[in-house]
Amino acid sequence: MCGIVAYLGKKVAQPILIEGLKRLEYRGYDSAGVALLGSGAIRIKKTSGRISALEAILDEPNTAETFGIGHTRWATHGEPNAVNAHPHPDYTGKIAVVHNGIIENYGTLKTWLQNESAEFASETDTEVIANLIGYFYAKEDESKGGKKPDGQNKFEQAVQRALGELHGTYGLAIVCSEFPDMLIGAKKGSPLILGVGDNEYILASDAAAIVEHTTQAIYLADNEMVTIGPEGFHTKTIDNVTVTKDLKQIEFSLEQIELGDFAHHMLKEIFVQPKALSTCMGGRIDRQNNRIKLGGIASYLRELTRTKRLILTACGTAFHAGLVGEFLFEQLARIPTETEYASEFRYRNPIIKDGTVVISISQSGETADTLAAVEQAKERGATALGVVNVVGSSIARTTDAGIYLHVGPEIGVASTKAFTAQVAVLTMLAIELGRRRHISSDEAVRYIDELSRIPDKISRILEQSDHIKEIASANIDKNNWLFLGRGFNYPVALEGALKLKEISYIHAEGLPAAEMKHGPIALIVKDMPALFIATAGPQYDKIMGNIAEVKARGGKIIVVATEGDENIKSALGRTDHLISIPDAPELLQPMLTVVPLQLLAYHAAVLRGHDVDKPRNLAKSVTVE
Ligand code: GLU
Repeated sequence: MCGIVAYLGKKVAQPILIEGLKRLEYRGYDSAGVALLGSGAIRIKKTSGRISALEAILDEPNTAETFGIGHTRWATHGEPNAVNAHPHPDYTGKIAVVHNGIIENYGTLKTWLQNESAEFASETDTEVIANLIGYFYAKEDESKGGKKPDGQNKFEQAVQRALGELHGTYGLAIVCSEFPDMLIGAKKGSPLILGVGDNEYILASDAAAIVEHTTQAIYLADNEMVTIGPEGFHTKTIDNVTVTKDLKQIEFSLEQIELGDFAHHMLKEIFVQPKALSTCMGGRIDRQNNRIKLGGIASYLRELTRTKRLILTACGTAFHAGLVGEFLFEQLARIPTETEYASEFRYRNPIIKDGTVVISISQSGETADTLAAVEQAKERGATALGVVNVVGSSIARTTDAGIYLHVGPEIGVASTKAFTAQVAVLTMLAIELGRRRHISSDEAVRYIDELSRIPDKISRILEQSDHIKEIASANIDKNNWLFLGRGFNYPVALEGALKLKEISYIHAEGLPAAEMKHGPIALIVKDMPALFIATAGPQYDKIMGNIAEVKARGGKIIVVATEGDENIKSALGRTDHLISIPDAPELLQPMLTVVPLQLLAYHAAVLRGHDVDKPRNLAKSVTVE
C-alpha cells in the first residue's frame, strides 16, 4: 500500500513522477504529492484525492527541477487530507520524505521531539521520520558538520541515526535541500526497488513505475539503504555496513501493465486468465511424460512427500485459494492440511513440529501479515515455501523456496487471475504429491490431462460475459446476496462474496451451502439473490435440496451449473438465472466456477457506477498490518 516514486537524472522530474504515480495508483489513492528539487528550496505540492487532483494543482513543469520524490497514499495515520498527504517536510524545512509503512513508536518519538522543540503539522506517523532526520541533521550542524572522516556525509549519517530509532515498517525516499543532487532510499518491511538507467535513477515501490525508463534494477532487502549521488549509487545496511547488490532484469513489459482495449484492469485480468494459466502451467506440465515439474521447489519435494502436516497461510483472496489447496492436499495426497489467516497465525503461538511445512500464498509477495507468518514459521523450524506472483518480492526472498505464478503483473485491486493461478499451482503440487503418496499414476495422468484443458474451458465461460451482465443488471437494486457452495466450491462461494463486496459495495455472505440453515437462512426474504454453485459432483443432490430451501422462502436463485444439466432447469422459476459452465472433475472446478462470479462482481460494480480498479477504502499489496 502507498506508492513511492523518486527520480534523479537529467530529465524534467515532474512529468516522470506523475506518470510513475499513475502506474502505482492501485497501491493507494486517497491523497498524493510531490517534492521537487533543482531551483533552490524543496518545492512541495500535495492534495487530497487522486493523482488527477494533484495534476490539477501543479504548475507547468520547471525544467530546472530534474530531481524529486512523489507519493500516492493509502492512509493509516491521519485522515486523507492535504496536510497529512506526503511528502512530509521536517520542522527545519531542509528535509522531505515519502513513506510506505507504519512507524509503531511514533507517539513516543513525537512527544520526545516536541519536547526538543520540533513542530508537527500533520497527524501522520511519517512526519516523525522527517522531524527525526531533521533533528539529527541539525545536531550534526551544531557539532562537527561537513564531510565525515570515512567520506560519509551528514545527510546520510542523520538518516542512519533516525532509522536506528524507528520501530515498524518503512519504504522511504528522502531528500535534503542542502544536498540537491542526493537521494536516499531505505527499506524495512515495505518494498523498494532502484531502477538504474543511463545517468538516471528511479526509486519506487514497485517495478511498474520503473519499467518505462529501464529494465535494470536492484531490489533492496530489509534494513538496507541506498544513497544516490553525482558519483553513482552505493548500498549499505542502515548500520553503515557496505553491501554489494546485483543488478537484476525487471521481468515484465509495459504492455502487461497497460489497459489495451479493456475498460478496466480487472476486466483485462479476468479475460487474460486462459493465457495466464497456460503460461503458469505451460512449462510445468510435461505432456510427453505426463508429469508435473515444479523447478522452484524440486529440492524440497522429498521433504514435502514425507511431511506430516501442511499449513497454508494467506490473506483475502489468497486465503480462499489456500482453502482449495487444503482440500486438494488432503484428497489427493492425504496430507493433513490447515489453512490459516496469516494475521491470526502469526500471533497465536502456532504449534509447529518437526516435519511441518508452511506454504505462504501472496500475489504481491509483500503482504505484511503473510510475510510475518513466513518469518514466524522459519523461526519455529518449519520449512517455509511460497506461492507468489511478483518475482524478487519479500516473501519470495524470505521463503526457503517457492513457485512463482508467472501470470504477469496484477493491477486491479480485486484479485482475479492471481486466484486462478494460485489454485492452478496448488493443484499441480497436490497432483504431484498425490502421485508420490496416494493416487495411482493413471489417476494422476487423468488429472494432468483435465488440468491442461482448463484454459480453454475458461475461454468458453468468458463468452458468457454479456449474459452474466444481464443477471447483474436484473438484480442491481439488491443490497444483500448469499453465495453458497459445497466441497471444493465452498471456498469459491467465499471468493464470490468477497469480490462482490470489495468492488460493488453490496453486502454478501459466502457459506458452505449446508450451513445456511444454521442461521443465515433467516436473512432470506422475497427476491433476495442466492447464488449457488451446483455443478456436477458428489454433493449435487444435497445442494439441490439447499436450492429448494431458499426457493421455498421466496429467494431468487442464480445457479452456476454444469452444461447439459436438464434437471436444474426444472428447479428454477421464471425470474431465476442459470449460468452453464463446462464439465470438469470436482477438484478442478474452482478454476472454472470462480470465473462467472468474477464477471458478476465486475458488471455489478460498473452498473453501480463504481471505480472498479480503485475500490473505496482498499488498495493493492497490503504492506501494512
Ligand atoms: N503511515 C503512513 C501514512 O499514514 C503511510 C501509510 C502506508 O504506507 O500505507 O501516511
